[in-house]
Amino acid sequence: MALLKIARMGNPVLRARAAELGDPRAPWVRRLVADMLETMEDAGGTGIAAPQVHAPHRIVVFFVAGERTTDLPGDGEQPLTVLINPVVEPIGDEVVLGWEGCLSVPGLRGAVPRHLRVRYRGMGLDGETIERDAAGFHARVVQHECDHLDGILYPQRMSDRRLLVYEDELRRHPIDLAEFVDAEAMA
Ligand code: ZN
Repeated sequence: MALLKIARMGNPVLRARAAELGDPRAPWVRRLVADMLETMEDAGGTGIAAPQVHAPHRIVVFFVAGERTTDLPGDGEQPLTVLINPVVEPIGDEVVLGWEGCLSVPGLRGAVPRHLRVRYRGMGLDGETIERDAAGFHARVVQHECDHLDGILYPQRMSDRRLLVYEDELRRHPIDLAEFVDAEAMA
């Protein structure tokens, strides 16, 4: 296993569409995923996509820790999940604003509108299909990671760029997103 170098915003690998995998059980895929997991853990992320480690393939890994969950059905704790060739589709049209960070955009946080509920499908390392309905933070993580496979970083999804801030400033000066949601609804 090895720690991989993380591409930062501006690197063209983060703007490209990643390629589908033919065989998820190929030995190189297992090695790449092991290195992605080690790199994600070392960097303290909750998810990472292969393009972020300069590997232009449709692979994401993520987990959802208990403290990030809500009572919404589909927003429970999620084990470490490997998704190969994932497809995400919205369920319903409810969109919510929430904070995101990204290992490729270090030091910053942004409030990003995302579908509240999605259904996603992909393959695990064993080639078996994984299909889940997700909501809340779980749905947000999956949408964020899968965007990487289409060359999209979260700042491109933002509706209000005043909400792109430094993480340490946000800690010092918390922002109540409810105020911004109300303003958006009234506009
Ligand atoms: Zn990211």
